[in-house]
Amino acid sequence: MGGSTEHIVMLPLMAHGHLIPLLALAREIHQRKGFTITIASTPLNIKYLRSTICKDSSSTTDRQSAIHLAELPFCCSGLPPNSDNTENLHVDQIGTLLRSTISLETPFHRLLLDIIERDGKPPMCVISDFFMGWAVDVAKAVGTSSVTFTPLGAYGTLAYWSSWLNVPHGIIDSEEFHLPGFPDTCRFPVSILTPNLRMADGNDSWSRIIQPQILSAFQSSGYLCHTVEELEHLALEWLRKYTNLPVWPVGPLLPQTVLNNSSSSGSFISKQRTGKESGISLERCLEWLDSHRPASVLYISFGSQNAISQSQMMNLATGLESSKTPFIWVIRPPRGFDLIGEFKAEWLPEKFEDRMRESKQGLLVKNWAPQLEILMHKSTGAFLSHCGWNSVLESLSQGVPIIGWPLEAEQIFNCKMLMEEMGVCVELTRGAQSTIEGGKVEKVIQMVMDKEGKGGEMKRKAVETGKKIRTAKRQEGEEKGSSIKALDDFVAAIIAMRKEQCVGAMRNE
Ligand code: UDP
Repeated sequence: MGGSTEHIVMLPLMAHGHLIPLLALAREIHQRKGFTITIASTPLNIKYLRSTICKDSSSTTDRQSAIHLAELPFCCSGLPPNSDNTENLHVDQIGTLLRSTISLETPFHRLLLDIIERDGKPPMCVISDFFMGWAVDVAKAVGTSSVTFTPLGAYGTLAYWSSWLNVPHGIIDSEEFHLPGFPDTCRFPVSILTPNLRMADGNDSWSRIIQPQILSAFQSSGYLCHTVEELEHLALEWLRKYTNLPVWPVGPLLPQTVLNNSSSSGSFISKQRTGKESGISLERCLEWLDSHRPASVLYISFGSQNAISQSQMMNLATGLESSKTPFIWVIRPPRGFDLIGEFKAEWLPEKFEDRMRESKQGLLVKNWAPQLEILMHKSTGAFLSHCGWNSVLESLSQGVPIIGWPLEAEQIFNCKMLMEEMGVCVELTRGAQSTIEGGKVEKVIQMVMDKEGKGGEMKRKAVETGKKIRTAKRQEGEEKGSSIKALDDFVAAIIAMRKEQCVGAMRNE
């Protein structure tokens, strides 16, 4: 396999918000440390990964960065064919996908045994997503150490894990509750819980899927967390204390060109990063942005797997139009409809798309957009986002403030932290069931896009936060940013574990 004699095997969850940062981490570990990396996943995800890293699409190796891909056979009853990624699944189907990841245990074990046979020793470490806690035991069984990856921030990770481990929160008679792991003074309103968490009693189907995975992940040797020490210092302390394990904040897991803001035209960063085909050519998208004033455009996206309801879509469109703010909106069929089906004009106000095209107020992009290039562009002034953590870091790294519309998972917690701790966000509404009037949409957008007042303040704070985020990944001579040091510490820790394993093995001989 060439490269370093040490080998790391990675196992991402089959969702773009998990695959994208893990691939970025793989590239970084390989580039900085020279280790050989194998990423194991199911066929559809290997297809995406392959197209991000190979010029030659028939190859399973990234020629430039020596990242190997290993396909694990996957068969999941209850899901349509070729749907081994959350991108086109409804919420309940995502539960089915999560449950069925356990069927990967045997092929993953076999893969590790094959690597041991080929390399003559176990891989130095397995890095697995926290939704695949079962991989910790598989790693132990073949005599290697394991580290858990969380693509969420520290606050979001703690909130998500503690919520699922402590259901039903003792909230029956109360409006507020306390989450173990957070300081006693920290109280959360019941409305912060997503519907599936509010209904959970520990014996429900979601708890039975998620709890064992989080608990198994607690048995790993530490966590690689997609955040920045300076951004979430306190939350990182709480997470370390709650799990009693090291947590290495190695974010933001973004290409260096994005952190330097040194690339806009020419290279298609998003395609190399996600393997997804965009609903618009990069050239057309940049040309459209070029035709607008600096910081005047609102970018709208609900991430790789979420959608809002049909009535919300209608009211968002109405509010956008009356706000007169230029926008790029990544549209997907509304919640409850076939997500891979044709987008129907009737989901939007009559002739909306035509009016937006003719007036140049809005650009509608079907399904997938080159998000990083949009956020990097000087015309982009704010991001209406579901507050998925990758989107948050991508936006803030470019000094772009956020209008929050959190939908699932830990997104409402992220939104709360962004508003209350960082002052870079304002919440428009939450969930896919809320009623949102066009008038409110218009008012909030105008407030955030305003260069004065609250909008101006949010922008200043987002720019300051962006500096902190980028500094964490800077290296000048011996001087290293906090996330680069955290990656060094992680590598030192796994090298120490490797030595212990060798000593242990010699003793047993
Ligand atoms: N993304 C993108 N184009 C899109 C939608 C999403 O490039 O049209 C990328 C985005 O840049 C981010 C990831 O997909 O890296 C979504 O992750 P996030 O954590 O924001 O949300 P999730 O999809 O996990 O809910």
